[in-house]
Amino acid sequence: METKVDAALRRLVATNLIAVLFTDLAGNILSADESFLNILGYTRDNLPPTIHDLTPPEHQRLDEEAFEKLMAFGACAPFEKDLIKHDGSQLPVLFGAALHDEEIACFVVDLSQNKQTQEKLNHLAYHDALTDLPNQVLFKDRLKQAIALSHRNNQMQAVMLLNVDRFKTINDSLGYTAGDRLLQSVAQRLTSCVRESDTVARFGGDEFAILLTQIPRAQDAANVARAIKNSLDQAFLFDDQEIFVSSSIGISLYPNDGRDTAGLLKTAGVALDRAKSQGGNSYQFYTAGGTTRALRQLVLESNLRSGVERSEFFVQYQPQVTIKDFHLVGMEALVRWQHPSLGLLYPGEFIMLAEESGIIISLGDWILRTACAQNKAWQDAGLTPMRLSVNFSARQFQQPTFIADINQILKDTNLDPRWLELELTESSIMKDPEEAIEKLHELKLMGIKVAIDDFGTGYSSLNYLKRFPIDTLKIDKSFVSDVCKDPHDTSIVRAIINLGHALDLTVIAEGVETKEQLQYLSALECDVVQGFLFSKALSTRAFEELLIEQAQVSSKDVSPTIPLSLVSVTAELN
Ligand code: C2E
Ligand code: MG
Ligand code: MG
Repeated sequence: METKVDAALRRLVATNLIAVLFTDLAGNILSADESFLNILGYTRDNLPPTIHDLTPPEHQRLDEEAFEKLMAFGACAPFEKDLIKHDGSQLPVLFGAALHDEEIACFVVDLSQNKQTQEKLNHLAYHDALTDLPNQVLFKDRLKQAIALSHRNNQMQAVMLLNVDRFKTINDSLGYTAGDRLLQSVAQRLTSCVRESDTVARFGGDEFAILLTQIPRAQDAANVARAIKNSLDQAFLFDDQEIFVSSSIGISLYPNDGRDTAGLLKTAGVALDRAKSQGGNSYQFYTAGGTTRALRQLVLESNLRSGVERSEFFVQYQPQVTIKDFHLVGMEALVRWQHPSLGLLYPGEFIMLAEESGIIISLGDWILRTACAQNKAWQDAGLTPMRLSVNFSARQFQQPTFIADINQILKDTNLDPRWLELELTESSIMKDPEEAIEKLHELKLMGIKVAIDDFGTGYSSLNYLKRFPIDTLKIDKSFVSDVCKDPHDTSIVRAIINLGHALDLTVIAEGVETKEQLQYLSALECDVVQGFLFSKALSTRAFEELLIEQAQVSSKDVSPTIPLSLVSVTAELN
């Protein structure tokens, strides 16, 4: 007679909740019930002959242990293992067995549902529901692992914190649905900017975090920050509406800026606050004292844009005088940067960085505009008009709008083009000589002059030089400095001056520091000199005083040309 327990068991088996299998002591399958076939997808015909065929190799050991217990105690406690399904995939099950008349009765409970739910719960615990990115808990965990790893390998990691600028406004004006979609798109773009091995996480709201593991140089973090900014600068399209966002990024580096998770997140946060306080739309590295030179460059590079926006740059003017009578005939505009924490910086420290990051375009635009406006203001004040030389870098010269931009600035400032001279280096012209010739001709047509700066250090292709419509050669100061010591340099300077004159060009010597150099240059018939012997680059005010002085000297007719501050040099020479 069937007992209550027997009936209950039969129900459990009938509902597929428990599957049953019988094998002999060697593991050969004697019979399997419908449930067993169902959950594993077999039919009676294609069911493998032994239980071992159903067990993945990594679980064979579990089976062996179970068998030993079965032999010793007549039953084994249920344990979790996988069984191989007909389609080759593995099914997680709870497996138990008991000995019965020289046969082994096995029961199997399908755990896959349970496993999936468990995995889903696990995933939710470590991921952000909106973007499916790792959350703060998982991010910290990965960062911790990365630190532990690099502690051993001595490698650098970067932590970035990113905020979408003015996200609250976007959310308020477009609604939460659009806000959510924006965050999802931001998540996708961020992920596409980093390597598979890096981690992009969302900490909540519009706050994202990125872990760049094992980066060889700090520069790599800057590159990624720039790529992210470029990517987020592209319009987001929602319902045919273009939305533009900008972002602020703070970066900290392991081991420099923190040795643990909390430390790195804190310093990245400080850097992020600085990026935001400077008006957003930039990335900043954390800066503590004792930064290395490479890091200082990265700091400068990330400060450039906000520096331009916050008017931290200013222009100084270095006098240029004729060698014959020390008549002030021109000025070279030289840019300086009054950095908020690093003090006064010279172009040698930042022009290259500005070129590499493209900021030279807006910075150069500002320099030209400022210098042209100043030159015009001096003329309007009745001071002697004179040539203004402005340096242009290769990147500016190659800009397709190069000519149009200069034209616009001349128009805006009302400066007569004949007072403007552009200083270009041989290398920037020689990048594409044919196109350069076209541009130089256009400048000539506009009435603008062109000087080749640092002449002698570049290609000096005589063939091209003949074809370039230029006005001035500036002998590089490296030759001038040794003109009286090194016979080779004397010869080079003589050759450049002769070459310049043969081509009907004005020759300027730059970096003239001593009277001996001046005497040599004078003997070699150089036309114009510029250098510390006469004056360093001067502030607007100081240069203005020089101009006023020259005007007074001329009117008193002491000497028609020489400003008082330059007289001492002349007197000693004569
Ligand atoms: P450069 O055009 O050859 O400018 C001359 C540099 O020599 C200036 O340095 C000037 O201060 C320095 N100098 C002048 N007289 C003497 C001297 O007697 N002795 C010595 N040792 N140096 C002297 P600065 O201002 O540091 O500029 C360095 C370079 O940065 C410039 O070389 C130029 O290539 C670039 N630069 C400066 N201003 C600008 C700018 O507005 N735009 C661009 N694109 N580049 C600029
Ligand atoms: Mg120059
Ligand atoms: Mg130069």
